[in-house]
This record gives sequence, C-alpha cells and structure tokens, in this order.
Amino acid sequence: MIMPDELLGASFQCECGRTHTVPVRKIVLEEGAYLRLPEVLEELSLPRELCLIADDNTYGVLGSRLLRLLSGKDYRVREVVLPSPPGGTVKADQPTTDKLQSELPSVPLLVAIGSGTINDLTKLAAFRRNIPYVVVCTAPSMNGYTSSIVALTTEGLKTTSEARPPVAVVADLDVLVEAPMEMITAGLGDIVSKPVSTADWKLAQIVSGEYFCSRPIELVTRFEPLFMGNPQGIQRRQPEAIRALTEALLYSGISMVIAGSSSPASGGEHLISHTLDMQADLAGRKHDLHGRQVGVTTLFAAALYERVLREDVPSFDLDAIVGRATGSRQLDDSLDSYWGRLAEVVRKELSFKASGREESRNRLATIREQWGRIAAEIRGFLRPWSQIRDVLRQAGAATQIRDIGVSVEQFREAVLHAREMRRRYTVLDLSHEFRLLEKHVDGILGETGLAAE
Ligand SMILES: [Zn+2]
Ligand SMILES: [Zn+2]
Repeated sequence: MIMPDELLGASFQCECGRTHTVPVRKIVLEEGAYLRLPEVLEELSLPRELCLIADDNTYGVLGSRLLRLLSGKDYRVREVVLPSPPGGTVKADQPTTDKLQSELPSVPLLVAIGSGTINDLTKLAAFRRNIPYVVVCTAPSMNGYTSSIVALTTEGLKTTSEARPPVAVVADLDVLVEAPMEMITAGLGDIVSKPVSTADWKLAQIVSGEYFCSRPIELVTRFEPLFMGNPQGIQRRQPEAIRALTEALLYSGISMVIAGSSSPASGGEHLISHTLDMQADLAGRKHDLHGRQVGVTTLFAAALYERVLREDVPSFDLDAIVGRATGSRQLDDSLDSYWGRLAEVVRKELSFKASGREESRNRLATIREQWGRIAAEIRGFLRPWSQIRDVLRQAGAATQIRDIGVSVEQFREAVLHAREMRRRYTVLDLSHEFRLLEKHVDGILGETGLAAE
C-alpha cells in the first residue's frame, strides 16, 4: 500500500488498468507554513518571477506578508487583488475570469492566496496560459484545492471544467485555525459526504457500467477516523483537528485526480446542493456555502440509502412500477416549470439517462435480480445518517434545512429534481426509478430532524 504522501508527484500503474498520475508535487501543512513558500518554490525549481492572486480579504490575511517575504528573497513579485463587490464576495463567473485575464501580467508562475473561489480562478488562469500555479490556502472550506476541476458559473448554469491541479499546496495551520467558523464547518460538510458519494460511485459502476477504481476511496478512507473522530476539536479550533480536516480535504481532491472525475467525492448529495445553488441563482437569491449545504444534503442521502436498503426489492412488481412512470409530456412540463430558463440544458443532461419504459424495465429487472449483491456492496461504503449528524452537530456545522437558508418545500423540491441536472447515476435515480424517492422523502425529512422548525 502506497502512503498518501508518496503519491505526490507520482505516476503508477493500477490494478484497475489505468496509469494514475498526481501532478501535485508538494503539500506543506503546518504552523507557519507560509514562511516556507520560497523554499518550496526553490525545491520544485519553479520560476523566480510570479504573480500573487488574492481578493481584498485574503490579501489582508496573507498577501502582504507573502509579498514582503518573497521580495526580500529577490523574487520578482507582481500582484492582482480582486475587489469584493459591495456586500458580497468575489465569484468564479465569466466577468471575473475576464477581468483576471485582462489584468494578469505575463509571468511564468501564479500563486493563489485564498480558498474555493480564488483557487478556482487561479487554476483556470494558469491552465489557460499553460503555466504552473501554487496555492496558499486560507480556509479548510472545501476539497477543491488539489482537484483538476474548476467550478464556474456560466450564464446562471453551474458547470465544471477540466484544468490542472496546483504543483504545490501551502496550508498554514496558524491561518487555517483562524478562518471563519462557517468556512471550517463547510469543509467538514464537504468531506462527510464521502460515504454517500463513494456508495453512489459503486452503484453507478454496477448499474450503468461507470469506470471505478478503489484506490481513490482507500486514500480518503485512511483519513476518515481523523475527521469523524474529533468534531469537538474542530469546534474548538484545535490545531490537530483542523490539520486532520485539511489533510482529508486535500487528499479528497487528489482522490478525484486519481479517479479522473469528481465521482469519488460527489454523488447525489452534491447534486441536491448544486440544485439549491441553481434555484437560488434563478430566483436572484443568495445561497449558502457549498460545504454547509453538502453536509445537510448528505444527511438526506444517507437516510435515503438506509430506507432503500431496507426495502424488499426482489418482491417488487416491475410492471406496476413502470406503469406509474411519468409520461414524456408531463416530464417536459415539469422540467420547464422547475428549471425555467435552464430547462433546455437540464433536459440535455437528463437525456443521457432518461430512457423508454422498455429500457427502464430491463434495468430495474437486472437490479432486482442482483439486489442481494448490490445491497451488500453498497452497505460497505455507507455510515449511519445519525452518526454523520452527530459529527456535524458536535462540530457546530449545519444539520437542518433552516440552517442553510431555504424552506423545507424548496429543499424537498430540490431533492426530487436534483437527479435531472447531471447524467451521473446516484441513489436519487435508483430510488426514483423504483418509486421510492417520493414514498420516503417526507418520512426522511421528519425522521432526521432536517425539517425541524
Ligand atoms: Zn486505479
Ligand atoms: Zn464538494
């Protein structure tokens, strides 16, 4: 078994048949880590001319200190500081990427100072210029630092595009423990989705033949006892607890790089969160942090799995189930009314898995026949929803629908429609196709306390 840090900068032949390559070559996670940035650049033989990219917030946290530090070591340092709009934060959208593109000087290296948005903007800019970048993290708020994926909003639609991960990550614990608490607990919410997202990945392999490799899952599973085992430490900002959380998030990103997709870290629970984001954008509302939403949607998805696995699927009458499926006209109307101007793009995604009654019946028949094996395999990945809730609660993270600023009805609708916006097969599809999602949704919202006032 390869140790996690031996994966950095490595390329290896895997039993899944692929060669996995990890472009992230160095992770420095410790107190005072920012002071080691010059040494890291030197060690990786990176250029001595670079541009720091920050927003006005993160520039205050570390930007000016890094400028002094690097200039003092004879680095030629330029900088672009993106201003936050009044009352808001910098967004990873088209106008911001254009602005960065036009202001960015011609340098051979970029250094991002920030979390999700600044990292994504820098990752994309570096990829477009075909130059490396390094990220200096300011909050353990999500798992995207080390991934190759950029999350962008283009004309209201949440999209992801492929780019390249940073060559190095510098995560200063002194800074991370001081990050806003809702960003720290967002990171926890993003990482507790692992049992559900990995179960969904396995499910997609069994049901729709998706590529699967157990290496990415083994990697993050190693860190699971650390982030699940000390939620009070996270709540108290204990450096050891924050270090464990950050490490898990960084390696979760690397697990996606190994998988070549976000599958090991993003299942149905992420689709519900993306749906909440898109509905908020459609309505011109603000939405909560990605990870705060994902923690809450994970509780729903974990409880859904538990109920589905308790069903006596082999005894199901498939003709009756398929006979009750929504007609295509009705589905069209429902897509239009829920997704509004996004209905066309959603319809296109859905077309990858929506099928005629015949095809749907065949798929359900195969699942019904193999149910014993499918259920046994899936169970191995899952954790009880109550255990996930306790961890989130003890850390002071969001655990109820009201915590993430939407109504129970908005959340319920998002759950029912989330499967429509991505082609990925998840527990939302499985339960929808067997008519179990509609059957259990209200029971879950009550049982888990998600809908509590
Ligand atoms: Zn593999
Ligand atoms: Zn996520």
